[in-house]
Amino acid sequence: MTIAHILAEKGGSVVTTTPDRTLDEAIHLLAEKRIGALVVSNPDGSVAGIISERDIMRALAERGGGAFDAPVSAHMTADVVTCARATTVEDVMQMMTKGRFRHVPVCEAGRLVGLISIGDVVKSRIAAVEAEHKALRDYITMA
Ligand code: AMP
Repeated sequence: MTIAHILAEKGGSVVTTTPDRTLDEAIHLLAEKRIGALVVSNPDGSVAGIISERDIMRALAERGGGAFDAPVSAHMTADVVTCARATTVEDVMQMMTKGRFRHVPVCEAGRLVGLISIGDVVKSRIAAVEAEHKALRDYITMA
């Protein structure tokens, strides 16, 4: 199973922000969209970074209320691990486990085409395991 299968179901729209926005704006966007991370994009559509609720918690712990006015660029992760549409779900699971993060942007030719969260990966794995169980049950019943 590849990431393209997940994107075909959930779509390729991604909630993004830009490096110059404030943490206050990022927090409001996360709350409004009920999500845990924003991809930070450059004007050309390439990925400049990712900022998640964990980065914001860390900024608040370090700087207190003053963090709200800081730019996203000061607290985002700039070294982003991305995948392609052809990457397998198993490989993305390994990336998330190894890197200890729950979001992986999907890029094609340097442009953002989707975002995979740990929730998407778990949903896809459960569906695959259930389909396998059903196939095995059907096979046993037929025999
Ligand atoms: P998360 O578990 O996705 O909320 O993120 C935990 C930490 O990893 C935060 O510091 C994020 O900025 C960072 N992070 C999230 N996704 C990625 C990614 N795909 N590549 C690199 N760092 C990431």
